[in-house]
Amino acid sequence: MNIVVCIKQTPDTAATVAVKDGHVTWGDAALVINPWDEYAVEEALRLKEKHNGKVIALCMGAESGKESLKTCLAMGCDEAYLISDPALKGSDVSATATALAAAIKKAAADLVICGKQAIDGDTGITVSAIAAKLNWNLLTYLSKIDAIDFAAKTIQVERSLEEGKQICDSKLPAVLSVVKDINEPRYPSFMGIRKAAKAVIPTWSVADLGVKADEVGAAGSAVTWPEIYPLPARESNVEIIGGESPEEIAAKLAEKLIGEKVI
Ligand SMILES: Cc1cc2nc3c(=O)[nH]c(=O)nc-3n(C[C@H](O)[C@H](O)[C@H](O)COP(=O)(O)OP(=O)(O)OC[C@H]3O[C@@H](n4cnc5c(N)ncnc54)[C@H](O)[C@@H]3O)c2cc1C
Repeated sequence: MNIVVCIKQTPDTAATVAVKDGHVTWGDAALVINPWDEYAVEEALRLKEKHNGKVIALCMGAESGKESLKTCLAMGCDEAYLISDPALKGSDVSATATALAAAIKKAAADLVICGKQAIDGDTGITVSAIAAKLNWNLLTYLSKIDAIDFAAKTIQVERSLEEGKQICDSKLPAVLSVVKDINEPRYPSFMGIRKAAKAVIPTWSVADLGVKADEVGAAGSAVTWPEIYPLPARESNVEIIGGESPEEIAAKLAEKLIGEKVI
């Protein structure tokens, strides 16, 4: 039984994201596992501990993604692969999902777990796109896996919606996305960190995935980004109202508010 976890590498939540020369930049801020994806890793590890099998982490991105994959290994994942290739440059969600779905097939996955969204791209639709490419069932925003039977290929989950909870039964294989109520991600163990530090993470190119170069990257994307710009600074007029006493200041303020028809 192989559980694949899709993790994206994102800037740390404390990073200041800016737009410079038409490109998004976060300077030299630390890169981390997308925080939502830590919950996906944790849930996969818990399933492995209960049902045996293997947890395989996949990340599509730059070479630096290997550091985040090492964190997955340190947490307890069995294998980790980076999907990286110049042909992937300019990939939209659909092209990203094409590459990830091919990697998921290569990993012979029985189940895929993702985070609910990436804190940088923020679309939250890669999960659905992966399920569509694989033609697998899609179960999103899970706050609990109630039951899973890999032999019978069935799963029962609790979906967390704004209006309440929803219990869903489905057949496997499936693609899941999880929310943070599902668990508390573990810290990597000291032994895990030492083992992961020595690990060599293989890189899968598009050729390794059996994907044609024009199915991914800018060539395989329907979405282009003709312009990226920062929001204009909000204009505001500030007037400091002075006076000898709080009563005087309050009276002047009330007069102004009445004058502006605010009160
Ligand atoms: C101008 C522009 C240029 C871009 N160029 C590139 C590029 O050259 N190369 C490139 O790789 N991307 C590129 N992207 C980003 C890419 O389009 C998105 O990151 C991708 O479509 C995922 O969307 P998202 O970040 O909204 O993820 P969401 O849909 O919010 O993510 C949901 C979940 O899907 C999984 N997931 C998402 N992305 C990945 C990933 N990369 N690896 C593993 N799991 C993942 C995670 O579990 C995540 O929690 C570009 C985006 C823009 C705006």
